Amino acid sequence: MVTLAGIADGTRLVAGGVADFATGLVNPSLRLGVTGLSRAGKTVFITALVHALLNGGRFPAFEALSGGRITRAYLEPQPDDDLPRFAYEEHARALTGEDRHWPESTSRISQLRLAVEYVPSGFISRSLGRGKLNIDIVDYPGEWLLDLPLLRMSYGEWSAATVAASRAAPRLAHAAEFHEMLAALDPGGAADELAAIRAAGVFTAYLARCRQDDVSLSSLPPGRFLMPGDYKGSPLLAFAPLDIAPGTELRKGTLGGLMERRYRSYVSGIVKPFFFGHFARLDRQIVLVDALTALNAGAAAVRDLEQALTGILACFRQGPNALLASLFGRRIDRVLFAATKADLLHHTSHDRLENILKLIIGEAMTRAEFQGAEVDAAALAAIRATREATVRQNGETLECILGTPLAGETVGGTHFDGATEAAIFPGDLPKDPRKALDGSLEGSLKFVRFRPPPPRDGGWPHIRLDRTMEFLLGDRFR
Ligand code: GDP
Repeated sequence: MVTLAGIADGTRLVAGGVADFATGLVNPSLRLGVTGLSRAGKTVFITALVHALLNGGRFPAFEALSGGRITRAYLEPQPDDDLPRFAYEEHARALTGEDRHWPESTSRISQLRLAVEYVPSGFISRSLGRGKLNIDIVDYPGEWLLDLPLLRMSYGEWSAATVAASRAAPRLAHAAEFHEMLAALDPGGAADELAAIRAAGVFTAYLARCRQDDVSLSSLPPGRFLMPGDYKGSPLLAFAPLDIAPGTELRKGTLGGLMERRYRSYVSGIVKPFFFGHFARLDRQIVLVDALTALNAGAAAVRDLEQALTGILACFRQGPNALLASLFGRRIDRVLFAATKADLLHHTSHDRLENILKLIIGEAMTRAEFQGAEVDAAALAAIRATREATVRQNGETLECILGTPLAGETVGGTHFDGATEAAIFPGDLPKDPRKALDGSLEGSLKFVRFRPPPPRDGGWPHIRLDRTMEFLLGDRFR
């Protein structure tokens, strides 16, 4: 059982903003949010980014590093004592050890502070001496951003919308048990704690099924049901939607009344503090997107990803309704959406992946509300696990990728043992990105997971990580 007082990711409110402001006067700092839905690649990205800043390597497009202006970088105690530390050393060890493997994924909010000393590029700033920038990296599940609409929805509205979505494809095929449970629950019956806990369990299992790789849906709020962070087992998560109309009045003492109360506590005790205490303090944000797993699962998954990303973008809006527009005048000025794991494709498809991502977020991205904040999209591999090869088969030339598939992966009836290297043709992404959404790609792509590569010259190969660093950090080293 968890009490509110002991919760790391919920209770910091505006006090943090005052502290940021005060310390920012002494040493400039940049608070970089790294988010994305589960398995999007946050842990791997942060580990590779921090490793690059600490150890250098081949990052030609990140000018401060390639131009030799970064003179020293080191980890420092993080500024927020009530946030868990990002386990950088442990993750780097997992990737470099004898039995190299991918590190454990993000399951809650965490933070790491890097101090970077540099020689400014401008004549005037250079004459003022060396610069020092503190980069505070904040890693958190993207699922939590999808809770933003709940701030404005009543329990009845949320219930009706969630149940309606579960009655349509593609969710319908995975909702049998959830629907059985809805039919058995009486909103006007007695408030039964055990019934509420059981209902939350069945509802969570339905969400988890929709999230599995073969279905790969993205828009599955409330975010803490799949990514509870420190709230695992908390009564704040012991509720579920009921089959009711949006305006239904739910009386105290009934099951519906109990569910409604819990929903309100979830919104006021978890969602609000996260947005105001953490999200509102970020300066820059990267949203990592695993578009390939969605493409693997089919057009319905890609369309659902589109919906989720539009929801995530709504959090960065600067319009009159902007919930988080200004706390201490601070706001996010750069947002990068990055399609991860580009190394699962031949380089001829990298730009196409970027174009699919731009199409998915395109409409929302160009809206006027984002004037002032720069929003961009990119394709990257923070750690490149593959090489490339051209294979001739039946008179055809195939652009393949070469790597060691993880044990248990299968392609065309071949099972991999985790030790054998293989050339794999994952399929080509279409020139026209709209094909990713219209169903014409169904079954033509196959992505497998590879073992992480051995480090080379003390670092890992990557794809466009340098461009990403330039966009997110470059101007702060001028
Ligand atoms: P998180 O849940 O967002 O923290 O996701 P992780 O960073 O743990 O990544 C999930 C999985 O995606 C990893 O275990 C890897 O299998 C894979 N992955 C992440 N980044 C890369 C990458 O750059 N290249 C490849 N090939 N796989 C990656």
